Amino acid sequence: MARCTACESLVGAKQSTPAHAALKSIDRKRYKTVGWHTGYITNYKCSECGTKWTLDKDKQDAHAGWAEQSD
Ligand SMILES: [Zn+2]
Repeated sequence: MARCTACESLVGAKQSTPAHAALKSIDRKRYKTVGWHTGYITNYKCSECGTKWTLDKDKQDAHAGWAEQSD
């Protein structure tokens, strides 16, 4: 299914970008990268278009952010 407009705006979005209204959080996990900092992974599913997203929140990682889940 094609992404809805709200999901389209998350493509390549930074971790500071909030989830849009139709996204439902499914799961949240804390992770630790080798001893020096902690990040959070939150999984979302869009109730409009069904797109699944992973939000990687990690203040130490400038590249962390929104990524579409392929499965
Ligand atoms: Zn959507």
